[in-house]
Amino acid sequence: MNLIFLGPPGAGKGTQAKRLERLHRIVQISTGDMLRAEVAAGSEIGQQAKAMMTSGELVPDHVLVAMLGRRVRQDDCANGFILDGFPRTVGQAAALDAMLHELGLKVDAALALDVDEAMLADRIAGRYTCAQCGAGYHDSFRQPSVVGVCDVCGSHDFIRRADDRRETVTARLEAYRRETAPILPHYDRQGLLFHIDGMATIDAVSRQIDAALQRAVTTS
Ligand code: ADP
Ligand code: ADP
Ligand code: ZN
Repeated sequence: MNLIFLGPPGAGKGTQAKRLERLHRIVQISTGDMLRAEVAAGSEIGQQAKAMMTSGELVPDHVLVAMLGRRVRQDDCANGFILDGFPRTVGQAAALDAMLHELGLKVDAALALDVDEAMLADRIAGRYTCAQCGAGYHDSFRQPSVVGVCDVCGSHDFIRRADDRRETVTARLEAYRRETAPILPHYDRQGLLFHIDGMATIDAVSRQIDAALQRAVTTS
């Protein structure tokens, strides 16, 4: 099963993708995480991308398409993958179609997480993750069961992203509206688009996603 998560920054894509990864034994491919790893490693891609990421702009299509193309060809993708943060432009969506076609693969469902813009700044400003295992948390909405200890791996180290500041949220939302929202019709036309109410609790969102995937599998 090959899935795509669509939705503005802070909508809950990573949270839900990580759960599906465990449930269906398919891999989450987060282009944001991949780019942050390139920045941390000081690679050429990382050096190109750093300033754009800090200011909340999108990194150019050719960089992302090449990076994703290499990633989906890796062995761990054979059982399926969840794209989290890609495609983000009409050009990336077209490149993805061509890439999957060449590999004899297809998208089974595109899940759009709908969240009111007013909520996104609060989601992003309170976000933090486990430095060891990457599990996602939130200051108000999702604390670990023992505060300061990761539920998944027991680590005491947590990190916050450099771009998760209220000041960059406006730029990121603007990029989403301008570049990413226009790709929704692309998946709708193919009958692959499922709208999910991302304002619901994390568990309720998960239930809606499971129901949508049931429908996607029975209609495909
Ligand atoms: P995205 O990957 O779309 O940017 P995340 O999955 O990182 O979003 O979620 C953003 C923040 O909001 C995280 O801190 C996460 O714990 C929290 N969160 C995710 N889904 C929900 C939800 N349905 N209700 C409340 N908080 C949520
Ligand atoms: P969020 O989870 O908040 O939506 P991501 O972690 O997906 O954010 O992305 C962080 C940043 O990385 C983006 O603001 C952008 O600069 C860059 N980025 C990630 N994926 C893409 C992409 N597919 N195309 C262009 N830029 C991207
Ligand atoms: Zn952890």
